[in-house]
Amino acid sequence: MTLFEKIIARQIPANIVAETSEWLAFHDIQPQAPVHVLVVPKKLIPRVGEAGLDDAAVLGALLLGAKEVARLTGILETGFRVVINHGADAGETVPHLHVHVLGGRPLGWPPG
Ligand code: 5GP
Repeated sequence: MTLFEKIIARQIPANIVAETSEWLAFHDIQPQAPVHVLVVPKKLIPRVGEAGLDDAAVLGALLLGAKEVARLTGILETGFRVVINHGADAGETVPHLHVHVLGGRPLGWPPG
């Protein structure tokens, strides 16, 4: 099982923000902004580059999940960023697709 499958199965604790039949959203253990939440599909897709056409509904649900997280955490109006890291150069560390939702402060662009 991946780390995130264990969190989804409640084998590892997490600070959960929201959940649907398709995804679980919980606070990142090492937040990079005042709000830093991960939206994780319950279907194991290792990374976005391995998603297929049959994953289209899940991918759409993740973005709508990011919007819902932004609403629940109060950053929908002030602004937020959605990030997916794929592979080594992007700094991916957990091989289970996840969307980072970051906000609560001005975010620099471009990212370093
Ligand atoms: P990645 O670098 O793969 O895009 O993002 C993985 C994220 O998972 C990192 O931001 C990291 O802080 C977070 N993370 C790693 N282990 C845990 C954990 O056990 N619990 C939670 N809530 N987040 C974790």
